[in-house]
Amino acid sequence: MSYQRVKGSYDIVPTSDEAWKESAFWHFIENHVHTLAKKYALEEIRPPVFEYTDLFLRSVGSETDIVSKEMYTFEDRGGRSLSLRPELTASILRAYIENGLQQTPSQRYYYLGSCFRYERSQKGRYRQFTQFDVEILGDKDPTVDVEVISCFLELLTNLGLEKYTLKINTLGDLISRKNYVTALKEYLETKKHLLSEDSQRRLVTNPMRILDSKEASDQALLQEAPSLREFLSRETLSHFQEVCNLLDSLGISYQIDEKLVRGLDYYIDTVFEVVASDDKGAQNALGGGGRYDGLLKQLGGPDLPGIGFGIGIERVMQALIAEGKAPLRESGPQFFIIPLSKEAKTAGFLLLQKYRKEGKSALLFNKNFQIKKGLQAAEAMHAQEAVILGEEELEKKVITIKNLRTRQERKESL
Ligand code: AMP
Repeated sequence: MSYQRVKGSYDIVPTSDEAWKESAFWHFIENHVHTLAKKYALEEIRPPVFEYTDLFLRSVGSETDIVSKEMYTFEDRGGRSLSLRPELTASILRAYIENGLQQTPSQRYYYLGSCFRYERSQKGRYRQFTQFDVEILGDKDPTVDVEVISCFLELLTNLGLEKYTLKINTLGDLISRKNYVTALKEYLETKKHLLSEDSQRRLVTNPMRILDSKEASDQALLQEAPSLREFLSRETLSHFQEVCNLLDSLGISYQIDEKLVRGLDYYIDTVFEVVASDDKGAQNALGGGGRYDGLLKQLGGPDLPGIGFGIGIERVMQALIAEGKAPLRESGPQFFIIPLSKEAKTAGFLLLQKYRKEGKSALLFNKNFQIKKGLQAAEAMHAQEAVILGEEELEKKVITIKNLRTRQERKESL
């Protein structure tokens, strides 16, 4: 019997039919993420993959789909309810509070890590997936909103992605949101029987979520619904205006989407999402984020504002492939040493160690002493140069180096 990986998961391997599953592609992404983080003065927090379930109930919200339907929750042997993290913000904030990081001068964090959601698995939707997450705490200034958005877009640009759309919206502060939800509820209660089953449930648990319902019947009802804009405070509107002005001055194009509410409970004021433009349907969101002033306090931390985003790395990789922008596969070792006798093998093995000490990548062919087989293996490994060590070379204390691209040969002393 052979084993299979868990449904909705995937392996990252050196070569695959799908480029996004290749380790070299992941290294490419990881390098870009860490370089970008440095540029934005972001520091890394690495939380564990599981947390006490209560953390996600309190932050993401018990009425969200993520928590109510998709979380991997289990009891450990000590009877504690634990959950694999479905997103990263809650864990990062928990770690920030628990480690007393509010005492440190910088409050800017990032992390690249796995998340887990029990979703129907399909292209772009996995049960274990990877997010690049950024969180900036303690700063309410609109420049920070724009910094966060521009960091998101810069990753896409640096990776080579071109076809995407930035959507932004403002959800208002907690008070205006509350007033709006009351009005929305009142309006929808009168038409409850016309709502989809999901939205009828959301009317009780989380009415704002009805705004991003995909059902045409729900959307038709929403045409006449009160608009969130009418409930927003002057502060919210001026904050949002400044965000838009700053985006304009950076030449970042965006669409204002008044229906954009994002799935999680904790967002207020600025929210945004980036969508790959050439895909259609529900699977094309590359990531999103927003402000969550109040969440830190709700989790037992200081009363500080916060803003962040999560980018789905697999989706970004797939969008890059769709645009023909996947990076070229990394080449193999620089030197592939081919000894042609037992004696030469020993000399070749010493040479191998010498190359590695010098920081060069090298491999030794030890299957047999046939030059043809050795060269075939070197080609198959995508080696850059074959180093041939035969009788003659040993005698003269030289090596023959054959460049496998240009086919040119040269001799060097052993
Ligand atoms: P969310 O916080 O749900 O908006 O997720 C942020 C981003 O993570 C999404 O825009 C996707 O790119 C990615 N994402 C969320 N769920 C999944 C999943 N099940 N599989 C792959 N990527 C996902």
